[in-house]
Amino acid sequence: MLKQAMFIHGEWITASDTMEVINPADGSVLGHVPRGGQDEAVRAVDAAAAAFKSWSSLTAGERGSLMRRWHDLIKQHTEELAEIMTLEQGKPLKEAAGEIAYANSFIDWYAEEGKRIYGETIPASAAGKRIFVTKQPVGVAAAITPWNFPASMITRKAAPALAAGCTVVIKPSEETPYTALKLAELAHEAGIPAGVINVVTGSAAEIGEAWQKDSRVRKLSFTGSTAVGKQLMQGAAETLKKISLELGGHAPFIVTNQADLDKAAQGVLLSKFRNGGQTCICANRIYVQAEVAEEFSRKVTALASRLKVGNGMEDGIDIGPLIHDEAARKVRDHIQDALRKGGRLLTGEQPGSNTSTYISPTIIMDATDDMLCMQEETFGPLAPITVYHTEEEVIDRANNSPYGLAAYVFTEHLGEAVRISEALEYGIVGINDPLPSTAQAPFGGFKQSGLGREGGHYGIEEYVEVKYISLGL
Ligand code: ADP
Repeated sequence: MLKQAMFIHGEWITASDTMEVINPADGSVLGHVPRGGQDEAVRAVDAAAAAFKSWSSLTAGERGSLMRRWHDLIKQHTEELAEIMTLEQGKPLKEAAGEIAYANSFIDWYAEEGKRIYGETIPASAAGKRIFVTKQPVGVAAAITPWNFPASMITRKAAPALAAGCTVVIKPSEETPYTALKLAELAHEAGIPAGVINVVTGSAAEIGEAWQKDSRVRKLSFTGSTAVGKQLMQGAAETLKKISLELGGHAPFIVTNQADLDKAAQGVLLSKFRNGGQTCICANRIYVQAEVAEEFSRKVTALASRLKVGNGMEDGIDIGPLIHDEAARKVRDHIQDALRKGGRLLTGEQPGSNTSTYISPTIIMDATDDMLCMQEETFGPLAPITVYHTEEEVIDRANNSPYGLAAYVFTEHLGEAVRISEALEYGIVGINDPLPSTAQAPFGGFKQSGLGREGGHYGIEEYVEVKYISLGL
């Protein structure tokens, strides 16, 4: 079930130098994948560059048919893919199957959208001229993806790229290569030609550097930390690639005194504890208006304390293990720091009680802006709640962050919803919606949360060049 090889030009490539892949549920070794480096990275670009000519010459409908076959095979293999994902990433099986469906929705949507990469004709300024604008695929696109969504972070990049006529080289996270390799296997089985999709496993730094330098790679799309995103942007400057970055977030979740508190409490549950809190759009800071703060926190606490933590392969588990020890340590540091600075533990992990990768959903009341969890991404199941008094105050506090990915507002008051959502400096605002991600909408951030958008017709624009043709009659 777990492919121990990387996928280049339609072939499975092994290597003597390998790296372990660990199951975060129990620390056991799941298997080994090749530790690829510069050579394999270049080989993958060779394959993608060679395949580009024929792939980009197909009609959008022909590419769409092959993508749809890939989509159907993924759907048929949902159970197997979900198991692979849970084994290497930890999220509960049901959530993993949900991610496969979400990942697949990008392939479905872009298989069609590829047919609508329209050009334009523009009235010329001289009688003997005509102006045409067309769009062409950029060329080889590189995707570097994280471990928190091992399937959808790949399809969100690969699907628009393939639909536009690009070929792709993918470097999945070291933690979660098996889901990526299985997706590549199914693409091959679907008849997507050799070289169109390549997956290289191995040294992030070496592969990343090779692709940054390679002038044949015309587009780099990255999802991951802000620090690595900045490095890649600098590296990509050398060959001036098109670049998309989907980086960290620190989402404010605002509950006004006009909110439906049950809906808001349920919203926090979905936004904060999904994937164990390991998503870049998870609620990080919960702002509740003073009048409803106690009642709201009681409701959230009641819901959160019912969530079951355990091995994601078992039935009835809501929260799996965090990805590794380091991730768990960071969450515990944030909990301890918040308690030291005056936070009240309403439910969750008592500091010092254990050191495993399993952390109970934790809610801390009376959070203050100087706490680590109010400034840095916790990336775990910690929900700090802070009280606010006025709309102006909450907008200022919510915007006081270098990040600007997602924000949430819960209120039943239309005017308030519109005013707050317009004032928030965030790329995505969920009004009474804790789960805004969807294939047809633009996903991306303001400020240091990134550049560019993924999803919808915006997402495909990232993979095309605009060509202006001036025709003299
Ligand atoms: P996370 O904290 O989510 O692991 P990272 O930014 O470290 O975030 O990792 C996201 C992706 O970027 C992973 O595939 C990782 O291997 C890759 N990566 C990390 N460092 C580099 C680098 N220097 N060059 C290229 N890719 C990198």
